[in-house]
Amino acid sequence: MSIDRLRRFIGDMTSLTGGAWQDKDEAAIVEVGAKLLAELVKHDDWLPESAAKSPPHGYAQNLLWCDPFERFCVVSFVWSPSANTPVHDHQMWGLVGMLRGSETSLSFTRHPETGALVPGKLTKLAPGDVEVLVPAIGDIHQVTNTLADQPSISIHVYGGNIGAVRRHTFDVKTGQPNLFVSGYTNKEQPNIWDRSVEVRAGG
Ligand code: FE
Repeated sequence: MSIDRLRRFIGDMTSLTGGAWQDKDEAAIVEVGAKLLAELVKHDDWLPESAAKSPPHGYAQNLLWCDPFERFCVVSFVWSPSANTPVHDHQMWGLVGMLRGSETSLSFTRHPETGALVPGKLTKLAPGDVEVLVPAIGDIHQVTNTLADQPSISIHVYGGNIGAVRRHTFDVKTGQPNLFVSGYTNKEQPNIWDRSVEVRAGG
């Protein structure tokens, strides 16, 4: 178990969101970010236990890292068995990488006359898979842990500080939005910077 993979991913995302792409090819950030996240979730040997604990009901959203300029953040979502989210949006781009277990994302579109939200594509994620969410294309969805007998974990990357932005849950029948700010479950972030073991070993 090593947090090195997460530290390297954060470095790569920092270059991607702060470098030559800065003004501001979102499509390129999302495309390259999805590849980086796929590489991260290909291995399940780095997420600290403290950020992998399943709550008894519902889900935990643990902040692993937020960029100092809030250009991106990394969050571990731990879903208790059969847990699901309300139907919600994000107000920024998002990447969902499946680390452990399995989840579905059900997308919704707005009915042009009634305004109701109509269920559309159902995306099922297995470990290593990455889903892309872009508001311009439509990012209203509901996420469900497909496993009824065990937790699942996905790693989410967003184009901002997702826990601290005003966004919406929706009443599906009427399409009525309700403002919410999700916050984070954990009070302390994992320490990605204690590299003393490798330094002592001469690495
Ligand atoms: Fe979401």
